[in-house]
Amino acid sequence: MSKRRSIAIDGPSGAGKSTLARALARSLGYLYVDTGAIYRTVGLQAFRNGIDPENGDAVVALLPGLDIGLGYGEDGVQRMYLNGEDVSQVIRQHEISRYASCVSALPEVRSFLLDRQRQLAREHDVVMDGRDIGTVVLPQADVKIFLTATPEARARRRWLELQDRGEQAQFDTVLRDVKERDQRDANRSTAPLRQAEDAILADTTELDLDQSLALLIQIVKERLQA
Ligand code: C5P
Repeated sequence: MSKRRSIAIDGPSGAGKSTLARALARSLGYLYVDTGAIYRTVGLQAFRNGIDPENGDAVVALLPGLDIGLGYGEDGVQRMYLNGEDVSQVIRQHEISRYASCVSALPEVRSFLLDRQRQLAREHDVVMDGRDIGTVVLPQADVKIFLTATPEARARRRWLELQDRGEQAQFDTVLRDVKERDQRDANRSTAPLRQAEDAILADTTELDLDQSLALLIQIVKERLQA
């Protein structure tokens, strides 16, 4: 079997990673792996069990009974299952973002999910997005991109997304949450969010979606040919 190709896309929340990574995967014919959705599923389980996500011992105690399934529809869209239930929509709720961010700071949670992510990259050509893909999960990735934008630009996108889904939220609250998550993701001791040394920085603050995608395709083409 020929070596699988992998493209790692890391960056803070709201930089457009999921949308762009999915579009990039489609244009390359690769599998798109949204690792944030996996952490969100763990967060949802904590939420449903009434567990304070900052209570590491209680979260870790959930892991042995946790049945997380990952599937792909015919449309190639990733779906998440928690104990057999399709939770792909619920995990997108605003409140679950905080739970995901807290549980993902736990080393036990990260190592519980690590091999699952690597396995996908062994079996498929992937575009995988997250926070530590280029640094920890796939350090040998063929292309690494660090996708970012200012906190204000990212909060604005998140706020519009929530509005589209009919969820009420104040812009200031969303901005505060974005900054809080940035802090937590960048300062945790296990797999903090940082740009891998060999990652290419892509700043989408001034770019719309089409321009951002064109930039990523250009980066990938140049890297894969190099
Ligand atoms: O990307 P998304 O916002 O869906 O991720 C939810 C949370 O999961 C993030 O705030 C981050 O803390 C965590 N995460 C992570 N490592 C990844 C992907 C997501 O820690 N590879």
